[in-house]
Amino acid sequence: MSNITFTMIKPDAVKNNNIGPILAKINDAGFTIRAMKYTELSEAQAMAFYEVHKERPFYGELVEFMTSGPIVAAILEKENAVEDFRKLIGATNPTEAAEGTIRKIFAESIQNNAVHGSDSDENAIIEADFHFSKTERF
Ligand code: ATP
Ligand code: MG
Repeated sequence: MSNITFTMIKPDAVKNNNIGPILAKINDAGFTIRAMKYTELSEAQAMAFYEVHKERPFYGELVEFMTSGPIVAAILEKENAVEDFRKLIGATNPTEAAEGTIRKIFAESIQNNAVHGSDSDENAIIEADFHFSKTERF
């Protein structure tokens, strides 16, 4: 089991000035930030990142949304990081997310849902490597 997960604060949450409040919730939940970047995804990066969804009807709009403005990408560390972070962010659709979760509080819609969280240890490592070199991790 890996102790890292990868997250992005998505363009909706950045636009709504929620970077600070979301990072506070992440730290309060016991996650340590190992790497962090304020950046923008290119169309090619967003398409590759969400390639598993390329056949889904929302893929085009998802790529458009994820490239609509800057994001914050980060590697987070904690015991049981992937599972605990998915619990902290809540369900994909904010109307189904539990009270107190990041998506319940900050998401605008099923698409504009404030944050990404890796869904497995394997993907956490792939996603972390996608965004950060060794010298960008502390
Ligand atoms: P993420 O991978 O971003 O952490 P997730 O794992 O909860 O989210 P996925 O099923 O992987 O959900 O979907 C990836 C992203 O695609 C969602 O976070 C959301 O932004 C968008 N999405 C998912 N389902 C829909 C839908 N039915 N309509 C519009 N957008 C959707
Ligand atoms: Mg996912």
